[in-house]
Amino acid sequence: CKFTDSDLSEVVLNNIEKLDYRRPTPIQKIAVPLILTGRDMLGCAQTGSGKTASFLLPIISQMLKNGLNGSEFQEVQAPQAVVLCPTRELIIQLYTEARKFSRGTSLKAKLAYGGTSVRICKERIKKGTDMLLATPGRLLDIISHDYLTMDEVKYLVLDEADRMLELGFKETLEAILLKMPPKDTRQTVMFSATFPGIVKEMARQYLQPNHVFAS
Ligand code: AMP
Repeated sequence: CKFTDSDLSEVVLNNIEKLDYRRPTPIQKIAVPLILTGRDMLGCAQTGSGKTASFLLPIISQMLKNGLNGSEFQEVQAPQAVVLCPTRELIIQLYTEARKFSRGTSLKAKLAYGGTSVRICKERIKKGTDMLLATPGRLLDIISHDYLTMDEVKYLVLDEADRMLELGFKETLEAILLKMPPKDTRQTVMFSATFPGIVKEMARQYLQPNHVFAS
């Protein structure tokens, strides 16, 4: 099983070759082809398993194949992909990987997390945003501004769902999800290391009923 056996786009395959990713990890073997089919997925994987690439690679690949629109000339930025995770450290890691996987393309990935200037964040986003990687509090803060809309979201990732709930982001996530297109018009991928009732409830609420469980 090799990455080149999958339907990842040429440029993404080149980028992972440069990163010396020789073989997909177990979660990548399952998640990459599954996400490429457009199905929703509930994943169980720990940090270190390669889970970040397991969702970023197929999502970036599909975005490149289907066309981007995060232009700096648009007054209102409408990202096609939104990735949420609980902490600043994690979201910076995800962003760093997203940049590596999309190197050499026009995909604009932008970062938004709390504790930094909203003004600087806004300026970055306004210069074009195809994929927004954010912590929940900051995302909710900035989607109430008129330069950013969730109306075009086709890919939503909720990474470390259990930790987001533990950190008290339940209401924040609910408010964010209310601004997103309905679940049957987007692809949602959720990862969690544990599955208490509250995480299962979240999956029931935000994933399509035919989602696939992967671990
Ligand atoms: P993660 O579990 O997503 O935090 O990834 C753990 C580390 O493994 C990161 O530094 C990745 O860059 C790296 N990684 C992910 N997938 C692969 C792969 N297929 N081959 C080699 N390294 C990988």
